[in-house]
Amino acid sequence: MIPGPIEFEPAVLQALGAPTSSHVAPDFINSFGNCIELMRKIWQSPTGQPFIIAGSGTLAMDMAAANLIESNDNVLVLSTGYFGERYAEITKRYGANVTILTTEPGTTIPLEKIETELAKKSYKIITITHVDTSTGVLFDPKPIAEIAKKYNTLSILDGVCSVAGEEIKQEEWGIDIVLTASQKAIGVPPGLALLMVSKKAMESFKNRKSPVGNYYADFTNWLPIMNAYENRQASYFGTPPVNLIAALEVSLQQIVAEGMETRFIRHIKIATAFREAMLALGLLLLPTNKNHSANTLTATYYPKGIDATTFLQKIGNNNVIVAGGLLPSLKTQYFRVGHMGSVNNNDILATIGAIESCLIACKYNYEKGIGIKTALNILNT
Ligand SMILES: *Cc1c(COP(=O)(O)O)cnc(C)c1O
Repeated sequence: MIPGPIEFEPAVLQALGAPTSSHVAPDFINSFGNCIELMRKIWQSPTGQPFIIAGSGTLAMDMAAANLIESNDNVLVLSTGYFGERYAEITKRYGANVTILTTEPGTTIPLEKIETELAKKSYKIITITHVDTSTGVLFDPKPIAEIAKKYNTLSILDGVCSVAGEEIKQEEWGIDIVLTASQKAIGVPPGLALLMVSKKAMESFKNRKSPVGNYYADFTNWLPIMNAYENRQASYFGTPPVNLIAALEVSLQQIVAEGMETRFIRHIKIATAFREAMLALGLLLLPTNKNHSANTLTATYYPKGIDATTFLQKIGNNNVIVAGGLLPSLKTQYFRVGHMGSVNNNDILATIGAIESCLIACKYNYEKGIGIKTALNILNT
């Protein structure tokens, strides 16, 4: 139950374990083309340009930055935690003048503050972390993208912990790049960086005056490959991770078959059940408000008097694996539970059960069973 790599569907793992075909075999070409078409449905971006590249989520962040930034461009980074800080580091590498708006852990940044900053000077790019996996904070990108458009600023959404788990309507909301990785709510083992680039962002890339300062990440190299596979033609720039892409096709098909709305509601219900269960146990959540709590993972403070090692070990003894803290300043004070992708009601009940067993073993004073009962009530409404 960690926030990535998540648990994977048997059919996805089966595709991953099938014999590796040639990257120019007709079946593989077709799979790749299908992935490109399915991505547009999941991102809700009918005219977006998908990129499927071997690498992790950090490469997806790096690619978006490398292709849009030129030296001395102004970039505004909205940081709600660990991955916002990372985005600032990445954009600096490409010579951007970076301004970071930060906030107290567990909170978001007020829209007025963002608009005031965008009004100060001409920003080429704004970056937003949709769900910061270090804090469990959900930052609604819709109003931010709207403001960005008003100031003619391109928006990049780090959706590594949100795409296919939290609602995103990329085109309707006007977000220029939405990026993710395979191992989170997309439901495929680690190794794929996935990006969806708007027409406007592709125009901006095509109008660059300087070459992209990163050979592997350069859209110039990958755009013809994506176009070829979409047209069901063979092509080569760098060998694609054939098995991962075969597995991606299976997972994307499962996601589309479930339906985006149904999928988002399932995530909301399971997340609500887990959060309310933690509160019923008397534990405190890191996000300061339910309105900005993620539906893909939850960050909860350890109970008073129980240290990180004891807590994580005792839950592990109950066969549930959860993650420790990630934010350096609070690392030893909270734990994280991922509930995205193929997560179901039984998974979350088992997790709450393991947490309750840990509390009982630690002689924590609370009403036994109240976490499970709270979750059951929510899951069965
Ligand atoms: C996991 C994650 C990343 C980094 O992805 P990697 O695949 O580990 O490189 C970036 N941003 C967010 C929000 C994440 O959750």
